[in-house]
Amino acid sequence: MSEDRDAVGTESLLRDDLVAPGAPWSGIVRRGEVLRIIDLEGRQGVDFLCYNAADTAERYHAPNTVKKSGTLRLTRGHVLYSDRARPLFTIIADTCGFHDTIAGCCSEPSNAMLYGVTGMPGCRENFLKALAPHGLGWRDIVSNVNFFCHVPVREEFLLAERTFVDSPSAPGDRVDLRAERDVLAVISNCPQVNNNAAGGRPTPIRVRIIACRQGAAWHHDEPEPLGNQP
Ligand SMILES: [Zn+2]
Repeated sequence: MSEDRDAVGTESLLRDDLVAPGAPWSGIVRRGEVLRIIDLEGRQGVDFLCYNAADTAERYHAPNTVKKSGTLRLTRGHVLYSDRARPLFTIIADTCGFHDTIAGCCSEPSNAMLYGVTGMPGCRENFLKALAPHGLGWRDIVSNVNFFCHVPVREEFLLAERTFVDSPSAPGDRVDLRAERDVLAVISNCPQVNNNAAGGRPTPIRVRIIACRQGAAWHHDEPEPLGNQP
């Protein structure tokens, strides 16, 4: 498997979880550790939130992130900023190249509003499950990142029908996020079947937390991160 070629060895794995289709996940990633999210089968949206673990009032802020990045298309070298404009994670590796932070998460109410389906929970409900053990809830869910999701903005600022177009994410594609402080990471492995966020067929992902020496987390075949702006 491709991840066997990674610069970090398996002995550095602190956590290695298979996350079922439609399931939530959460974990603390200490400063300098790497959170690796692997899209095992491809085209699987991974809804993502993050918080300063030491003070969860500070959390991911999409506007700060896109304004500093200068693009809506997040990739390697971009930083996920907090609402206090401080780095939470840096994207240090990205084999997909398509990640969204404008379309937000799906939910039972939005599935009813957008698609006319009822009784179909989504990523917001997953976030609530993942946040509860950390004492967080509805008020703590903000506009999130959707890894491996393609949300194009077209001429005249138009969005695609059903917002998400088919993702180019291939089996084994991954993102590596280096924690810039101790961070609480929260994931919903998107269960959506009414749009292309999960390719119409939700599939499992793998989530790893990797300890590494400074500079050891990125890969032999990739340049080092470029800082705040690529
Ligand atoms: Zn979703």
